[in-house]
Order: sequence, then structure tokens, then C-alpha cells
Amino acid sequence: MRRKLVIGNWKMNGNRAANSALLSGIVAGLSDFGAECAVCVPAPYLAQCQAELQGTPVAWGGQDVSVHASGAYTGEVSAGMLVDFAARYVLCGHSERRAYHKESSELVAHKTVAALAAGLTPVVCVGETPAQREAGETEAAICGQLQAVLDLISDDDVARIVVAYEPVWAIGTGKTATPQIAQDAHSFLRARLAQKNATAAAGVQILYGGSMKPDNARELMAQADIDGGLIGGAALKAGDFLGIIQAV
Ligand code: PGA
Repeated sequence: MRRKLVIGNWKMNGNRAANSALLSGIVAGLSDFGAECAVCVPAPYLAQCQAELQGTPVAWGGQDVSVHASGAYTGEVSAGMLVDFAARYVLCGHSERRAYHKESSELVAHKTVAALAAGLTPVVCVGETPAQREAGETEAAICGQLQAVLDLISDDDVARIVVAYEPVWAIGTGKTATPQIAQDAHSFLRARLAQKNATAAAGVQILYGGSMKPDNARELMAQADIDGGLIGGAALKAGDFLGIIQAV
């Protein structure tokens, strides 16, 4: 069976004092829970996560990664650097990177390969825009985003990725996808993964992201193909983040 996974995406939020309070609140509240959990933080705070989370059940990761291993790429952070701070995860192709930094699906696929090569678990983010949903192009959009990754990774590596379905219209808007809309997208994505490696696809954790909160998490997580959440706003308050983890 797939274990549930809840990842907090802090985006560009935080400072050392607030992070400390948030992390200790999360760790203190995590008692008897059955899910895996992690926070993906701005790169400058990876060292703080390593210092404050080591030995706890909470893993940590980055929000983006360079396709390059090292060299003259000002501002970039390599997969090896994330590993150097004991990161386990990295987000690849979050819709904010796709929209504001013009990341193509091909670039996202190369980032996924770089993450895998360094031993990280890439969280490959896909999701349709409002216009794509209205035009009935949801499946084509998310299929194209996922396929670019599947075209570059090996069959065996299907087992080493996490996928996050995040409809752009639901991110930070308070408009959550209905459990049925999310489940339909998740089962569609799993079927695409299965075309490359059926055995591995059955084990891939597919997370839902987009205005997940403690009060809607339970119903979403109850769907057959929803294996957890990628949480933005609600990951910035220990109580909300714990509420979602407890909903598992
Ligand atoms: P949200 O963000 O939970 O604030 O909608 C989710 C995300 O962007 O990963």
C-alpha cells in the first residue's frame, strides 16, 4: 500500500525565528501519525531545517533545482547542494515556476533527471490553468507535462518520483478541486505512469495541491488515488499543517 505523504511548500515565506517556531510546533504536534511528512523551504533555510529537524520524522527539501551540476550559473542551486544539506525532496515544475520563470515541461523534465541523479526524490508538479479547464483541455495539459518527464527518465525511475496534481485555479485561491475532480485527474495520471511502468505506477504517491485545508483534507485524502497533499498557505501555521496530517 502507498503511504500518505504531506509536504508543506513554504514558497518565499519565513525567517529564522518564524521557521523555528513553525518547525518546533510541527514536531511537537506530530504524535501518533501514519503519514510521511516534509517541508520544502527556501534554499537559505535548508541548513536550519537540517539542524532543527534531524532525528525527527519530518523530512525537508528544496523548491527548485538547477539542471546543471556546478559552474557559472549565477543564482542557481544544484541538486548536489540540496543533498549536501540532507534534503530528501525537491519540487520540480511548480506552476509558479512555470508561470513566472517560463519553465517549459522539457526544462522541468531535465530538472527531474538532475534530482534523480543526485539521489533526491523529485516532486513533479502538474496542473491545468483555468483557461485549459474551461476549454476541456485538462487531460491534454497534465498529460503533456507528465509525458515530458516520462520521456526522459528510465522505466525503473518511475518508482522514484512523486507526482503532485495542482490545478492552477485552486492554488492560493481558496477554491479547492472537488474530491471527484481531483480523483479523476489522479487516476488519469496514474494510468499514464502505468503505460511506462505498471508495477511502479501502483506505488507512486500522487499528491493533491491547491487550497487544501484541515477541513477539506479528509474527503480529498479518502479518494483512491490521492496519496497526500502539497500544501501552500496552510503549511505556514503549525496547527493547520498538523490538522491536514491528522486528516490522513
Ligand atoms: P495553496 O498552495 O495550498 O496555498 O493553494 C499549494 C501550492 O502551491 O503548492
